[in-house]
Amino acid sequence: MVDTGGGLNLILLGPPGAGKGTQAKRLEAYYGIAQISTGDMLRAEVAAGSPIGRKAKAIMEAGELVPDDVIITMLAGRIARPDCARGFILDGFPRTVPQAEALDAMLAEQGLTLSAVIELRVDDAALVERIAGRFTCASCGAGYHDVFQPPRVAGRCDVCGGGEFTRRADDNRETVAARLAAYHRQTAPILPYYAAQGRLHRVDGMAGIDEVTAAVERILAGLSRPLAKN
Ligand code: AMP
Repeated sequence: MVDTGGGLNLILLGPPGAGKGTQAKRLEAYYGIAQISTGDMLRAEVAAGSPIGRKAKAIMEAGELVPDDVIITMLAGRIARPDCARGFILDGFPRTVPQAEALDAMLAEQGLTLSAVIELRVDDAALVERIAGRFTCASCGAGYHDVFQPPRVAGRCDVCGGGEFTRRADDNRETVAARLAAYHRQTAPILPYYAAQGRLHRVDGMAGIDEVTAAVERILAGLSRPLAKN
């Protein structure tokens, strides 16, 4: 693990299927900071049948965005938890300019700053193929893809040996089109917001998974407070 010398607070931005979750899990392991996926949090609420989950379910199935106030309240509680003390990687948040503004206010209140915002750039045409083929291990959550990253032994998770896999309800072609439209309409306007703050870095998300990780690590190594090895 790497010593982050205080909080390393990152945002991974990019359309659905860009590889945010995959990269965030790697960064979590490498830097010991919390991966926070608002999509995962919402899916847990839906599975639990909670009031938030009941409100979010149909919206998520339609590929639209859950209202800002719901998401902002959920996220505020999450970044206050002790596992965020070394920092966090946000994956899937913020998704609107009001969410980005609310995050800035939350961080300022806690005396924290954003270390970097990293945009993973991927062509829309590639995203549909990536999303339509993806699935995860039901036991440990390891991610796979029918074509690009099948398990080494068919039907067995490489990581935990589990034999059950799940696919997200919204990873079908119709919903993906709606999710991409929501990204371009509501989330892409965040990019100039962070560019104006001088925090936006861009990575070619069309490259292989290891190459993308290496590009992200180069960005993190170049931050004004560089990361030191333990
Ligand atoms: P994701 O796992 O990030 O692709 O999110 C799945 C779905 O959850 C999205 O299509 C939205 O319906 C909802 N969602 C996740 N994060 C947010 C957010 N920050 N704001 C609004 N809706 C969200």
